[in-house]
Amino acid sequence: MRYKWPKAQQSAAVLSFDFDAESGFLFREPEKAKRSLADLEERRFGPRVGVDRILRLLDRLKLKASFFIPGWTVENHLAPCTRIRDAGHEIGAHGNVHEAVGMLDEAQEKSVMQRQLKILKDHLGVKPAGYRSPSWDVNVWTPALLKTHGFLYDSSLMGNDVPYDVPTPAGPLTEVPVQWIMDDAPLFRHVYGATNAIADPARVFQLWSSEFTGMHKENGCFVLTCHPFVSGRASRIQLIEDLVRFTRKQRGVWFTTCEEVARWHEKGRRS
Ligand SMILES: [Zn+2]
Repeated sequence: MRYKWPKAQQSAAVLSFDFDAESGFLFREPEKAKRSLADLEERRFGPRVGVDRILRLLDRLKLKASFFIPGWTVENHLAPCTRIRDAGHEIGAHGNVHEAVGMLDEAQEKSVMQRQLKILKDHLGVKPAGYRSPSWDVNVWTPALLKTHGFLYDSSLMGNDVPYDVPTPAGPLTEVPVQWIMDDAPLFRHVYGATNAIADPARVFQLWSSEFTGMHKENGCFVLTCHPFVSGRASRIQLIEDLVRFTRKQRGVWFTTCEEVARWHEKGRRS
């Protein structure tokens, strides 16, 4: 059966941004992070330049997006986080110091979850509806933990390309699914020794626009995931703008946020 979207729209499209800044590097390589200014500065491009470029782009396009922000980023780069909030975009949780939860046990994950919620509340006054796990790493117990901490949805899993239910003992948790094809990091980040090179934006446009066209035919939920320190670069901002203009040529696309998608799904489940 085909997924049904509001107002007889054919598909949904969401721009999402994971505002990691230095947090993922601090968690994964704490020793190197004490000395490598080069690695830190690469990531500081996000709060220093990328976020504001993205905010200007969203303003030009008159779009609201979903930003997932680790607690560490909120505490250490409060000004750009405040600008995201004040521009009316959705803010979701994204770990505390971008912890890959596969490296945590359940008790550690619970305390990380409580800490990130407190930081979002204390510094931004935000109670997030959504959670995106750092590195899209999810444990079998994570959905129940999200449900008991009052989250409406998760956006870290790849089990479908329309919203779906992840069962938990406390009832179903809505999943707004992601996928690797539509993540900027594997395509654009330079990593020594990795098999992937820095992709030509024209090739990525081809990939993402083809995926969008296919998803639109399949009544799918197209969720693009970008990082300000990766996609805040000039040619990639242009790429996102070109992609949105391309998707707007199709009729019946609901441009929205992860939260609105999750609310729609929740409503459908109740009716
Ligand atoms: Zn992240």
